Amino acid sequence: MPPLPDTKANFHHKRSVTGPIPHQPPKWMPAPESLPIWQKFTAPEGMDLESVQRSFCRHVTKTLARTAHNMDDFAAYQALALGVRDRLIDKWNITQQHHTKMDPKRIYYLSLEFLLGRSLDNALLNLDIKELYRDALKQLGFRVEDLVNEEVDAALGNGGLGRLAACFMDSLSTLNVAAWGYGIRYTYGIFQQRVVDGYQTEFPDYWLNFGNPWEIERLDVTYEVRFRGYVNKIVEDENTVRYVWEGGDKVVAVAYDVPIPGFDTKNCINIRLWSGKPQKEFDFASFNEGNYEKAVEEQKTSENITAVLYPNDNHMVGKILRLKQQYLFVCATLQDVIRRFKKTSRPWSDFPGQVAIQLNDTHPTLGIVELQRVLIDEEGLSWADAWDIVTKVYSFTNHTVLPEALEKWAVPLVADLLPRHMMIIFDINLFFLQDVERKFPHDRDRLRRMSIIEEGHPQYVRMAFLAIVGSHTVNGVAELHSNLIKNVVFKDFVEYFGAAKFTNVTNGVTPRRWLYQCNPRLASLITEKLGTRAWLKDLSQLKKLSVFADDQQFQAKFMEIKYLNKVRLSEYIRTHANVTIPPDFMFDIQVKRIHEYKRQFMNILSVIYRYQRLKGLTKEERAKEVPRAVIFAGKAAPGYFIAKLVIKLINSVAEIVNKDPDVAQLLKVVFIPNYNVSLAEVIIPASDISQHISTAGTEASGTSNMKFVLNGGLILGTVDGANIEIGEEVGEENIFFFGKLADQVEEVRHANRYRRSDVDPKLRVVIDLIDQGVFGDPRIFEPLVSTLTVGGDYYIISADFESYITAQDVVDKAYKDKAGWSKKAVMCTALMGKFSSDRSILDYCKRIWKVTPCAVP
Ligand SMILES: *Cc1c(COP(=O)(O)O)cnc(C)c1O
Repeated sequence: MPPLPDTKANFHHKRSVTGPIPHQPPKWMPAPESLPIWQKFTAPEGMDLESVQRSFCRHVTKTLARTAHNMDDFAAYQALALGVRDRLIDKWNITQQHHTKMDPKRIYYLSLEFLLGRSLDNALLNLDIKELYRDALKQLGFRVEDLVNEEVDAALGNGGLGRLAACFMDSLSTLNVAAWGYGIRYTYGIFQQRVVDGYQTEFPDYWLNFGNPWEIERLDVTYEVRFRGYVNKIVEDENTVRYVWEGGDKVVAVAYDVPIPGFDTKNCINIRLWSGKPQKEFDFASFNEGNYEKAVEEQKTSENITAVLYPNDNHMVGKILRLKQQYLFVCATLQDVIRRFKKTSRPWSDFPGQVAIQLNDTHPTLGIVELQRVLIDEEGLSWADAWDIVTKVYSFTNHTVLPEALEKWAVPLVADLLPRHMMIIFDINLFFLQDVERKFPHDRDRLRRMSIIEEGHPQYVRMAFLAIVGSHTVNGVAELHSNLIKNVVFKDFVEYFGAAKFTNVTNGVTPRRWLYQCNPRLASLITEKLGTRAWLKDLSQLKKLSVFADDQQFQAKFMEIKYLNKVRLSEYIRTHANVTIPPDFMFDIQVKRIHEYKRQFMNILSVIYRYQRLKGLTKEERAKEVPRAVIFAGKAAPGYFIAKLVIKLINSVAEIVNKDPDVAQLLKVVFIPNYNVSLAEVIIPASDISQHISTAGTEASGTSNMKFVLNGGLILGTVDGANIEIGEEVGEENIFFFGKLADQVEEVRHANRYRRSDVDPKLRVVIDLIDQGVFGDPRIFEPLVSTLTVGGDYYIISADFESYITAQDVVDKAYKDKAGWSKKAVMCTALMGKFSSDRSILDYCKRIWKVTPCAVP
């Protein structure tokens, strides 16, 4: 038999060097006489009209192999994107070289989700080359505005958590922090939503179909990842044993880099996304045995690991593939982080000074265990030294207090997939509980409550507890939420560790995307009025706008922009949802993931209430009413039956209301399909009022509330999450609060459980209309409606309903006063400085990561 080919050598060319290593001569150096040539031909791409036109045409003809006579908008988008990519890479290289030279502390932001949206417009604006490209492409026969719409969203996230990671990357880059994002390159992002017969249907989001110019494939940056296998115990001498994890299956993680340009800086940082690949391209042994299928199978299973993003928002589903994703992610990431650290030949004791790792929720918590494993099993550190390093490196952001969202993994599942990690988790827990016992002797219930292992059949690993124990700092994402963490969910841990470990960093959003990019007219007005665009890097400067809040001319300009944004959205709704909405209606918007705790159900119930009220009015009375368009968008998790029924109800109500001539001048209802970042950019600048109406104490922060108010839209909301802090900033007169407070909710729930009385009378009117079949077959909605009655109304819709309807009337009244409303809108934009993600990131840098900027000179 001929020898088998060396498949590893054939298929995996691994890099021998990864950039210059300080204090060490590089392995390859250009000959001195070749340096000028290198310098000449690696000079950054030109930033003048001729250069960008030349690179556009070069990409058209050479990269895409097309011609001027064989072009469409998509090809033009591709050529444009590739030219911008070249310029991003120039900046990226300069940044990385600078960081290698300075060797600052690196911040690693670990997130299973990055909801980036589109990149082209953002890159053009952050690099300040949009005008240049507009002129350059105009001469070539294209409009930049058309081409940016050709891009498909990078939708590697579900909602707020993933979008937060994206906003944070923009701020980290803009603030010149030496940061890396790490995540997974899912082949399928969040599903595409279409509405068929009023129901959500899901379609795969194969976003890479036409290539992705915003990633750099690094086929030579790969790491092996092991699953299963066994743990070998090695007795080195009488008091040393060592464990080695061996056997099992190995897959390979391949790096894909996504450059993230900062605004008005030379800095350009990186998000490194991992993709699963088979370790061997092909199992030749199986192949030679004639088992072709088995050989292909192995390839498929490793690629499966990173194939699809789990589409659940704030909901844990314990699928083994998800656990594999989490481990592949942290395993590859830590190898990369450690390799970068080791290039400088520092001792391990330097690691916490050089590396800070932030866990975006519990999804990357296995990283804590993995680092401990590497340090003790592979690097030979003692348990104590290793654990000291681990707990100085990690910090953890909690994103929710919803019980169904808290991650826990069955012990047998973890033990099977990651046997050594399961051992280490038990040890971490043992040492931790021994310490708890010392501090609180004879308190067995406390030990049970605080154990990382939840007892039962099976046992479970409580990931949040593991994350707390393995981190130096734990933060919530808004004041109320952080207080709930401290005083309720993790109370025992505060008593044990002390309050200083637990803190708050209120979320923020990047003003570059969520004002400058999505609302260019308003951004120009602000820049014109303030005489500078410095506000884009220091959002608190917006407060200088407040002196114009009573200025009639300024109000008129501000509201004219709002109107034009409403025209743009109305046009979008006409073409994508087939509903005509007059732009002079009040635009009342609720867009976010569909979830019971967010209470879109309560919103549509109130729309039904309004509908029947309007129908009961005389013609004269109707003339005094404020015309309203109630606009919904958002995805429901494919397995979340009740949430999907809410979408159906919204569409059924829309169908009846929109064709009823009695209310044609007063009420429109629409559900816009496929909510994503680029749709949010069209929707948000067009709101008069937006709804953030979660049951008090359930929405950790919310970030779309910030985006809306920043764009001069008011909030109708509950006293929850960041709504509270927004209210503090903009003033009580510029926000419409209603509903029970967080500390009243338990009382209401208790009463609901034993409720003999009926639901709120206004809500009863609405339920009766649904039951009578006004919105179609009531049997369809029965499971949804019964959550309010026999279901115990966990989200207290009934208890909040009266207050909600009253608040809606207050909104109507306020809207009738045009000047009054305009002033409120201006004040909203003016007073939102706090909610820039730059402020959040500076807060993390100062109080959690202890790092200062490292700007490229
Ligand atoms: C900002 C944003 C979210 C978060 O919305 P919340 O109302 O805070 O839940 C979700 N999805 C997209 C596309 C966003 O841009």
